[in-house]
Amino acid sequence: MDDERKEKMRQIKDEVVNFKDSPLYKERINSRNLPVIGEGSHDAKIMFVGEAPGKNEAETGRPFCGAAGRILDELLLSAGMDRKDVYVTNVVKDRPPQNRDPLPEEIAAYAPYLDRQIEIIQPQIIATLGRFSMKYIMEKFGLSHELQSISKIHGQMFETETSYGKIKIVPMYHPATVLYNPNIKEELKRDFNTLLDLK
Ligand code: URA
Repeated sequence: MDDERKEKMRQIKDEVVNFKDSPLYKERINSRNLPVIGEGSHDAKIMFVGEAPGKNEAETGRPFCGAAGRILDELLLSAGMDRKDVYVTNVVKDRPPQNRDPLPEEIAAYAPYLDRQIEIIQPQIIATLGRFSMKYIMEKFGLSHELQSISKIHGQMFETETSYGKIKIVPMYHPATVLYNPNIKEELKRDFNTLLDLK
């Protein structure tokens, strides 16, 4: 099973590397960036889904390894979780230029890879980081009617049905929000702590 999951993830990586039709492919090649597939346990009960790689991520090929990643690590630690036991990925696998928000067509292009990653890992909880992944994941799992601004629904738990059973979706602020609004950190810590009760 583990080998099978590893092999399926490797296939996703190969496909993304060669995804020449992607709206961000040229940008990746011209900037000598790397795609960022995801990292962590293929057995994870909790999957964190961010938006898109930033500069550090695109240089290293690893998700959340820059300033936002340091905050993510701190939040995980404060909730007693280890990064190697969870799975961390993004909706969009290549860096949008100048860190701009991902465009709808970029989300649509890369989302099938995220869908496959969810099927491979089969997490019990998906925690979305930021409004783009919140919107994508909630719509994907039939929760469009529950969508509100992230300030209203962060930290709430939404139960939904998947191909492999019931799971919980928890929208959260993006960790980078803390960089320009330090007050958000306490709210994020509280939301991360609720994840452990759900497991
Ligand atoms: N922000 C994201 O949404 N994802 C990353 O991997 C890094 C920063």
